[in-house]
Formats: sequence, C-alpha cells, structure tokens
Amino acid sequence: MEIIYLDNNATTALAPEALEAMLPYLRDHYGNAGSAHVLGHLSEGAVVQARDQVAAMLGCSAPEILFNSGGTEGINHAFRGVFEGFPNKRHFIISAVEHPAVLAVCDWLKVHGAEITTLGVDGDGRLDLAELERALRPDTALVSLMAANNESGVIFPLDDAARIVKGKGALLHVDATQSMGKTSLDLSKLPIDLLNLSAHKFHGPKGMGALFIRRGLRLKPFMLGGHQERGRRGGTENVPGIVGLGKACELAMAHLPQADAVGKLRDGLETEVRARIPDVVINGAAAPRLPNTSSLSFAGIEGEALLLKFNARGVCVSTGSACTTGQKEPSHVLRAMGVAKEYALGTIRVSLSRTTTEHEIKQVSAMLPEIVEELRRKFRAVVS
Ligand code: PLP
Repeated sequence: MEIIYLDNNATTALAPEALEAMLPYLRDHYGNAGSAHVLGHLSEGAVVQARDQVAAMLGCSAPEILFNSGGTEGINHAFRGVFEGFPNKRHFIISAVEHPAVLAVCDWLKVHGAEITTLGVDGDGRLDLAELERALRPDTALVSLMAANNESGVIFPLDDAARIVKGKGALLHVDATQSMGKTSLDLSKLPIDLLNLSAHKFHGPKGMGALFIRRGLRLKPFMLGGHQERGRRGGTENVPGIVGLGKACELAMAHLPQADAVGKLRDGLETEVRARIPDVVINGAAAPRLPNTSSLSFAGIEGEALLLKFNARGVCVSTGSACTTGQKEPSHVLRAMGVAKEYALGTIRVSLSRTTTEHEIKQVSAMLPEIVEELRRKFRAVVS
C-alpha cells in the first residue's frame, strides 16, 4: 500500500542529505569530540561546523547555541534555568495553547513557589497583546510563547510580543519547535533571550535539538556532569545527531522559499474540503498560520474514527496533537480556542512537508469527503 504521510508536525522524514552527512560519524569517525587525538579532532570539527550551521539559520552567534536532545529538554532548561537563576522573580507568563512540556514544567514551578499567569487566545487562536502587557509585573521572570502552534499552526506575533516583554524588563523564551524550517526567524533582529528547536520537526534526526541562550544570560546547567557544551550540559556529545541537525538547518534555509508551494497545496486541500463539506470548521483559518498545517473539525464524527479510516487507506494524519492521541477529551488548544466540543472531538490535523506532492493532496482531498460522509451515515444509523 502506498503511504501518504501527512503528520509532519508530529515528526518528519530524515532528509537523505542529513543521513549522508551523519553516516561517517556513525561508522568511521567515532571519536569522542572531547578527545585529544585525530578521531577526537574530526568529531570536534564536525560539532563546530554544525554549531555554525544552526547559528546561521537563526541569525545568532555560534557560542549562543547549546546542543541538546530536543524541544522538551530545551523548554525544561529554559524555565528551570531562569527559575534557579532569578530567585527574586517568581512570576512566569505563558499562553493557554503552549505545548504540554511547557504546561508540565509550569506545574512543577508552581509546586516550587512560582506564580503562573496563563494568557487566553481568541477563537482563531490569536494572542491578545494587550492582555500580555497587562500581565507583566516587576517580578515577572520569564514570558514563554510558542512561535507557532503544533495543532492549529497559528503563528504568534513575536515582534510585537518581544517589544512589549523587553519594554517591561522580563526575559522572553520562544518555543520554536514547530516554526523552524517553515517560517524565517532572525535573532539578530528579534530580542528573544531563549529559543528552543528540535531537529526531527524539520527533516533532522530524532532526539536532537538546540537551545539558543542569548550572550550574557547565565543559565544554570541543565545536566550536571562533564565540561561539554562549556559546562552547560554534561554528557558526551551526540556527534552524528549534531551533524544531522546542522545539515537539516542548512537544508531548511535552502528550502524556505518552497514554503509558499507547501501553502498552496494546503490551501487547495482546504478549498476542496470546504466545497464538499460546507460545515467543516478550519481552526485558526482567519489567523496567520504555518503554511503546512490544517486543523479540520467535523461535527457528528470522532476524529479517532476518521484517523483509523485514513490509516486503513495508508494515509497518516493525527487527531489534535500527537501527544494527546488516545485522549477522548478535546485538546487543551481547541478548548482554549473555544471550539465547540462536538467539533473539537471530530478534529484531525493534516500537516504537510516540503516532500508532499500535489498527487498526494488530490488523493486525500477526494478521500476525506467520502470518509466523513460514511462516518456520518453510520452515526445517523446508530442514533435513529
Ligand atoms: N514544542 C512544540 C510546539 C512541539 O510541537 C513539540 C513536539 O511535538 C515539542 C515542543 C517537543 O519537542 P520534542 O519532541 O523535540 O521533545
């Protein structure tokens, strides 16, 4: 069966070029990057090059990049590092639609004496900047906002948010896990203090990521151990992973102009679905969104059933976010957007990548209305 993969916000395929770049470091160049011999130097050189590649993508300097295991670790490091480093500031601000990693760290912070303010979003997932301004206090340590939402694809206005947050003297952390490779972001222009990214969301290897820590901000190490990452994260470097991340960044920059083409495919799918199923709700449709993401809600069916039907036809999509699959409650993101429960439970997320083809989208556009109609027919038969 041909597989049509439209779950790229959960993870992406490793780019062949990234795999090629990694292979020598899995096979032959296995030296420890900290070792003072030829194999060690080869690994160390590869780490230096990769750090430059990540910094070039972000518009920052190489020493501001710390390699880690991905988005969840970067989020933990940012929050816990600030919490430990600024004991006189105990107030944190997040939005209601942040990733579960942010919500879980905030629960931990609360237990340890922090106060959390959660900003709401409107029906299209947009942030209220006036609410952000009102929420900031002299004891606000950190504001944490995602660059783009993993379920709806809605993009937050980081320029405006940064201006407001920096104007009030707080630190700004951005979870850029979903936006990397899909939209551009330039840290030489945006006064963000901390930013995390994850390689596997943009065709790099899994279990690999980076945290940007702006020069001058001293964060406590997340992992105590050796001298690696200038003492900020102990543990032998994952050299093949680091090389793969560096290559993925280089590729992401080169492919960024293709984002429009991805957006056209996504828009084509939505136009077709709207024409065939007029009562579909496209979550966040009126807000600026990532070009690859479509969150579609249908009343009278379960998203899980839709996913299974798609799966039987070789199409991989997701209900809400991958992390909430299996839960029967609407996702916290859709709840925050005020999506009616009947629609929220009938939601699927379709997420494209630069490898998605027009042919694949045509097939899915034809299948979706058929499946929705079939499920609605069954539902009506059960109810009547
Ligand atoms: N933040 C966002 C917005 C995400 O979508 C994800 C993963 O889905 C994460 C953080 C966690 O990233 P990782 O899988 O690298 O831990």
